[in-house]
Amino acid sequence: MKYTVAKVAFRDGAIEGRGVFALRRFEPGDVIVPYAPKQRRVDVWSFESRLAAQTKVTLLSDDGTVIVPDTSVPGGWLCNHSCRPNATVYSRGDGRIECLRTIVPQQEITTFYGWVTRNQPERDPCRCGATNCRGFINFDVSDEEARHAEADTLEGERFRKKLADYFEFLRQIGQEQAKGNVLHTLAKMRARLL
Ligand SMILES: [Zn+2]
Repeated sequence: MKYTVAKVAFRDGAIEGRGVFALRRFEPGDVIVPYAPKQRRVDVWSFESRLAAQTKVTLLSDDGTVIVPDTSVPGGWLCNHSCRPNATVYSRGDGRIECLRTIVPQQEITTFYGWVTRNQPERDPCRCGATNCRGFINFDVSDEEARHAEADTLEGERFRKKLADYFEFLRQIGQEQAKGNVLHTLAKMRARLL
């Protein structure tokens, strides 16, 4: 696969700080830009990975490693989040951003971060401006919810509804790959709590 960074421009965006903008037209399935042209890999369980996660630009790969962008080199990691993104982040290989809906020149390229937090429901307010904006970038799971997730209780029922609603939302915006983050976090929380 070959990338030309000149297909996009990295500059100030409407949503927040820097953003990634199209310099040409992209059709669904087109590879727009690599996630991080310069990067290193750390083990998902390492302390280094936890530290890097605080920068909020790491990407969990499917081979058990975490991609940590060298932030001195612009890449797809600079895409702003949107609740109605026009592109998708794929973690396979070196990580890349693919067009989801037709993107025209000068349009901002947005992705769905799919962050999952624990006991911090209001950590990441969203200012994407989409009509279907969730209000927050993150999806939160509390210890209480994790504990009751499979229980025949009111709390369990409420959580399963919340999860089903979120998954339906992901389906509607074409981001079903983000389900994995939620299930991974939930399983880890339950292993610790039960
Ligand atoms: Zn939003």
